[in-house]
Amino acid sequence: MTKFYLAIFLLSILLLTSCVKEIKNNDSVDSKNRVNEYALVIHGGAGNIYKGRYTEEQEKLYIDKLSEALNLGKEILASGGTSVDAVETVIRVLEDSPLFNAGKGAVLTSDGDVELDASIMNGKDISAGGVASLRHIKNPITLARFVMEHSTHVLLFGEGAEKFADEFGMQKVENNYFKTEERIEEYNNSKSVASIENKDYKFGTVGCVAIDKNGNLAAGTSTGGMAGKKFGRVGDAPIIGAGTYANNKTCALSATGHGEFFIRNVVTYDISALMEYSKFTLKEAADHVIKNKLVKQNAKGGIIGIDKKGNIVMSFNTDGMFRGYITKDSEPTVELYN
Ligand code: ASP
Repeated sequence: MTKFYLAIFLLSILLLTSCVKEIKNNDSVDSKNRVNEYALVIHGGAGNIYKGRYTEEQEKLYIDKLSEALNLGKEILASGGTSVDAVETVIRVLEDSPLFNAGKGAVLTSDGDVELDASIMNGKDISAGGVASLRHIKNPITLARFVMEHSTHVLLFGEGAEKFADEFGMQKVENNYFKTEERIEEYNNSKSVASIENKDYKFGTVGCVAIDKNGNLAAGTSTGGMAGKKFGRVGDAPIIGAGTYANNKTCALSATGHGEFFIRNVVTYDISALMEYSKFTLKEAADHVIKNKLVKQNAKGGIIGIDKKGNIVMSFNTDGMFRGYITKDSEPTVELYN
């Protein structure tokens, strides 16, 4: 009999410690207490995206590609895939599309080449990976994920990052693969839209944030950076806390805009910190940073975000932002203008 009580006692201790561990390691919200059981938000860049700038045909190209990406993300989340899987897969689709400034179709540097930055973060354990100044990696977001999951580092740069990619047999391409005719033309008239001084400048970075069925958050961002960038310039996209941030305690965020300001203002971490320490809602925090703090500095851009309850935000201080979302209960919703 004593042995029986001893066994019950030991079993209760075991159960109790495993519960405590579970609570400690996971800040996710139970599905019953979430607005959306699972959801995904994307952006394809902000900027002077106003009605009349694009023909109906061009608008349709963007809407179709963003909808395709949203549907794919939903499929992954609906079948129980993780938010990290959804974010990586969706960003790969946008990197492969010449419509956006990420992967194929990225903007050209002042030397006429392409240099790519990307990062990804897992809100469950705040693990993160970033890559910068890549010249041959077809899908930078996947390399960022390898950095997050298979290295002890957070950010790898240039040749070193590309050497690391060889360990995983990643697909490499010539730098020319990324250059589309439009980008070459833009470069040749480089004082036109390619200049940040130009009122028509458009940021075309892509990003994705998601919450999965287990309530885990993830965020990712991928870009060619700013058109005409110089001297190995690295923007906010691969910098954790600037262009990308995810934490199950608060939210997941991806940014697009004038990277130097997003780095100086640590934009995505700032939004998360306002939620964590000052109890702002996601919308209050995002609007405060994007529409108040950045505007005072004349800094252009926007963010997409999703909080631990599945609330969605898409906040920007430009004329428009290519953006869209999908939830368990909704079809893809895509918007281009303000
Ligand atoms: N944020 C990116 C950068 O500064 C540019 C963009 O959003 O298109 O590199």
